[in-house]
Formats: sequence, C-alpha cells, structure tokens
Amino acid sequence: MYDYLVVGAGAVGMATAYHIKRLSPSSRVLVVDQHPGVGMGDTAKSAAAFRTIFTSWINRTLAKTSVGFYREVQNSGYDLGMRHVGYLFLVPRENEATMRAVAHELIKAGTPVELYDKMDIPIRTRVSEDEEAREMGLPDVSVALLVKEAGIIDPERLVRYYYEKYVEAGGEVMFGVKVESVKFSPKRPIGIPGEPFPWQDARVAGVETSAGPLEAKNVIFATGAWTEMLMDAAGFGLPIKPRKRQVFVVKASGELGDLLRAGLADREYAPMIILPRGIYVRPEPVEESFWIGVSDRRRYGFEENPEPEEELWRFGIYPVLTKYVPLFEGKTPHNAWAGHYDENVVDYQPIVDRLAEGLYVAAGTSGSGIMKADAVGRIAASLALGLEKAELHGGMVVDSAVLKKTRCFEEERLVI
Ligand SMILES: Cc1cc2nc3c(=O)[nH]c(=O)nc-3n(C[C@H](O)[C@H](O)[C@H](O)COP(=O)(O)OP(=O)(O)OC[C@H]3O[C@@H](n4cnc5c(N)ncnc54)[C@H](O)[C@@H]3O)c2cc1C
Repeated sequence: MYDYLVVGAGAVGMATAYHIKRLSPSSRVLVVDQHPGVGMGDTAKSAAAFRTIFTSWINRTLAKTSVGFYREVQNSGYDLGMRHVGYLFLVPRENEATMRAVAHELIKAGTPVELYDKMDIPIRTRVSEDEEAREMGLPDVSVALLVKEAGIIDPERLVRYYYEKYVEAGGEVMFGVKVESVKFSPKRPIGIPGEPFPWQDARVAGVETSAGPLEAKNVIFATGAWTEMLMDAAGFGLPIKPRKRQVFVVKASGELGDLLRAGLADREYAPMIILPRGIYVRPEPVEESFWIGVSDRRRYGFEENPEPEEELWRFGIYPVLTKYVPLFEGKTPHNAWAGHYDENVVDYQPIVDRLAEGLYVAAGTSGSGIMKADAVGRIAASLALGLEKAELHGGMVVDSAVLKKTRCFEEERLVI
C-alpha cells in the first residue's frame, strides 16, 4: 500500500512527487506513467520558454518562484540549460499605451524591462509599407518590450532533475503502466460484493492499471492534457480541455545564424520574440535553430498521436513571420512536432484540488506548465499531505487550496 501515488511523470507530476518526498521522507511514494520513461508527455513537446510576467498575480507568483528555484538549481552546478535570453514583445500602436503602462508598473515592481523604439536586430517594424501586409491587416510595430527575467530552459533536464532527486530520496517509479480507473473503497465495509454502494461513504483506495491494481491511500493525477478524460471517467468534471499546439523548427543557417546570436541587452542569444498575431520565435542555441509556434484559436480536443500540420506552417505562420522577419523568406522547417496545452478554460491558470477523500488533481497549466511546475508541485504536495499552507521557493507562503477549482481569479490575458 502506497501513501501517495502520483499519476504522470511530467514536469508537474515529478515536481509533486519530489516535494512530497522532501516534505515527508518516510512516506511511501510511487509515480506511474504510461510512457516508458520520465517527461515523455507534453513536457517533451514544450517550447520550454519561461517568463515571470503574467497579467494575474497567481501566475506571476507561480512562475517567479519556480524560475527562482530553477536558477538556484542551475547555479548549484546542475545544468538545466537555462539561458536568460529574455522575451521581446513586438507591440502594435493600438497596444502601445497599455504596454508602456505595463512596463512602468514592472519597473516599479523591480522587474527588469527595456523599451525599444529602435532595435539592432533585423525585424521589420513598418510592415504597412508592404502591400501584402496591408491586405492581411498586419499592424506596424511601434515599440518593443524586452523582459529580461525570462528565457529558455531544457524541459528534459528539468524533469530529470526532479526524477533523480526523488529516486535518491527513496521514491519509486513504474513506467509503461497505464492507469485505467480510480478505485474507491467504503470507509465502513460491510463485506458485500459490489461495495462501495452509492449510499456508502467512500474514499480512494488506489487505481486499476494495465499491470493490475495498485493500492494507495492518496492518488494525485498530474496527467496534463489527459486529465479531462480521466476525471470525466471517474465522475469529476473539470474546466480543463486539451488544445493542440505545434512547434516548427527552422535551421539558423546563414543570416539566420546572425539573428540567433543577436542578443539584446548583453545577452548572448536572440530573445524569444513574440510577434503580433500570437506567433513566437524561440532561439535554440544548442541545435542552432529557431522553434516557431502560434497560439491559434483552434477547436479543443485530444488527439492520440498529434501530428504537426504543414498547412499551419504554410498558411498560419509563414506569411506573418516573413513580413516581420524577412530573413525567414524561403525557409522551410526541417523538423516539427505537436502536443497539447491542458487549458483551464475559465481563467488559464492551474488547478490543484482535492476532488474526493484521497483524490487530488494538479493540472490545467494552460501552456506554461514548465515555468510553473515547481510551485504547482509544492502546492499539490502540501495539499495532499494535509498541510494548510504551502511554502514556495524563496519562502513565500500560500494557502494550499489557493488553486482549487472554485477559486476566483482574474483571467490570465498573456497566454502565448
Ligand atoms: C507545443 C507546446 C509548447 C509549449 N511551450 C511552453 C513554454 O514555452 N513554456 C512552458 O512553461 N510551457 C509550455 N508548454 C506547456 C508545457 O509543456 C506543459 O504545461 C507541461 O509540460 C505540463 O506538464 P505536466 O506534467 O502537467 O504534463 P505532461 O508532461 O503531459 O505529463 C502528464 C503525464 O501523464 C501521463 N499520463 C496521462 N494519462 C495517463 C494514464 N492514464 N496512465 C499513466 N500515465 C498517464 C502522460 O504519459 C504524461 O507523461 C508547451 C506545450 C506545448 C504542447
């Protein structure tokens, strides 16, 4: 019988398991994943950029404390592939006043940012000079905001860090095992087959899996985009829906290589660039390439084996990308992949909640789960351990129920 069973060995599940073991070393903890190894779900599909600016305070808190923890790990000598290249938001005139106000607030709050009216990197700001861009209704960029406390990280190293520390602390894992359902048992068994009946008080007893039953006092579903399906099947509705997301990789050869090395504010590499219309261009220095994606408003839905769509590159990304960064003209991706965001469709912030006695969920990271995994893991661990408060990295304390599904937060508006 396990004390805690975490379903899902992604960034959130491994951070949760690690923090349970850290806070309660004598607990018997098991992590189960259907994949043959750690971090092979959407954690491996991530563009893995991080930032600490969000419009909602809770997202800012989750990201700021998590990124602080990752920085400390990296500085201690465990290379997480973190590079503070920054995020560069290209801001159209219609949003300039808002962005200047945001920048002012950020500076006041001690977040290092810079505003550029002109930049030393080959980005076309006056796209309206181009007839096609005018036809497409693309806006000119009037100012660019560089957020310095932001950058890129290697998600596989991050999840491996948690995995190694967790296993060192005596945590157990089972890979290649699919959880099929949640098992409940009556609190007061009467010994009749078919228990628990609807009128009996019940609590979690474990899970049924492809490898047989596993008994556990507490089960935490950190199952990302799979969460909706699993919880629906168990009779618990959550406002978390999967949405397909894709990354296209373009080699940074020739002049694109110069762009890759065009760091701003003394950075070694180009920032993560956010173009108008939700397109991002993420530098990948190790592979000498750019990872490009878009947050398109496509239908929700889960695909078993999501494939990248050539048409999205051709019609959804390329025409806009090449207007703002003409160096991409004639380039085609040499690699691409697709995964899912697990979006909390109410406010785009994670849900960490207790759904029944012994049953917990930690999901809904809404496309920014890598940069928030540590804080989400700490909150999930504290909640499952029955602690009223969760201590985030750096000493900040929040209520363990702060991310329960019935909370009321302002909607996050900076979902990329
Ligand atoms: C294209 C793309 C770009 C992204 N870019 C960024 C970014 O720049 N920055 C950022 O912070 N985030 C980004 N994200 C989001 C980020 O990847 C996720 O928020 C994060 O990986 C969520 O981690 P997780 O542990 O919750 O989910 P996952 O890593 O998906 O882990 C869930 C695990 O649960 C397992 N599982 C599910 N069902 C079962 C079952 N029945 N039995 C056993 N195991 C099961 C799965 O196998 C999986 O390993 C991006 C995502 C995508 C798809």
